[in-house]
Amino acid sequence: MMKIAVTSRGPDLDSQVEPRFGRCPYFLIIETETLEFEALENPNVALGGGAGIQSAQLLANSGVQTVLTGNCGPNAFQTLGAAQIQIIVGVSGTVRQAVEQLKQGAFSGAAAPNVASHFGMSAADQSGTANTSAASPMPMGRGGGGTGMGGGQGMGRGMGMGGGRGMGRGMGMGGGATATPPSGPSIPSGPMPPQTSGSLGREQELQMLREQAQDMAAQLQAINARINDVEHSGASSTLIAVVEAEKCTGCGICQQVCPSNAISVDTIARISREKCTGCGQCVAECPQGALSLKKA
Ligand code: SF4
Ligand code: SF4
Repeated sequence: MMKIAVTSRGPDLDSQVEPRFGRCPYFLIIETETLEFEALENPNVALGGGAGIQSAQLLANSGVQTVLTGNCGPNAFQTLGAAQIQIIVGVSGTVRQAVEQLKQGAFSGAAAPNVASHFGMSAADQSGTANTSAASPMPMGRGGGGTGMGGGQGMGRGMGMGGGRGMGRGMGMGGGATATPPSGPSIPSGPMPPQTSGSLGREQELQMLREQAQDMAAQLQAINARINDVEHSGASSTLIAVVEAEKCTGCGICQQVCPSNAISVDTIARISREKCTGCGQCVAECPQGALSLKKA
């Protein structure tokens, strides 16, 4: 018997799988053998940031072993991995069909997030039109309102890199073209070279490249966390935030957003293990990528 969660547009098994993870309307918590289920209304639908982490934490507390969804960003991926929850992306159809496919062994776990941070916040993401299944191009750029620059580049092995680059904290979701047909779940893998654009000024391109590097660092961190989890499976799934001292600039943003007053900042941020609830809000807001969730 396996307990799983499926992101859903409605509260029953015949609802469509919702492609967004953090902002799905419902999580259906299902016992795969009996198909008994509970519809969990997602309280994080309208969150401005951190929805992926909050939703991952919600599922960590519900005791599921596997999550089926369309897309999963690096923060949610890292949090689910830290809680030792298997992630399957690129899932579509009805929830009932997804469970059947899972039972037939049609899916394999994702080794990396298949969308960048803050996916699901634009109108296009919400309509599902930018739904990048794991076999589709992985949007890597940042940009305001999904207005991408530059065309997509097929990169072999089922990967493409859409444009959608800009200078804001928003997500660019340009449509990268690839020769790979967008069907069936698979695992995006392989290194992604930085994108360049001759039409950008030097400073703009530098900032864009730094943001790409930050996204990639977050993905690498998620993969390493997952490797560590698989190697040490069986331990507790309680999560707390930890600070990477070399990256922390002591800006204090995490202290301001922590709802549990668990962070103090002198030269760098320090986390109180006793107070931290593992909500992940600080992880989502740290501009340096200095925070992550780890098992307590
Ligand atoms: S938000 Fe990040 S960089 Fe700023 S104090 Fe907190 S951990 Fe350090
Ligand atoms: S330190 Fe605060 S904001 Fe960060 S995970 Fe813990 S409780 Fe949440």
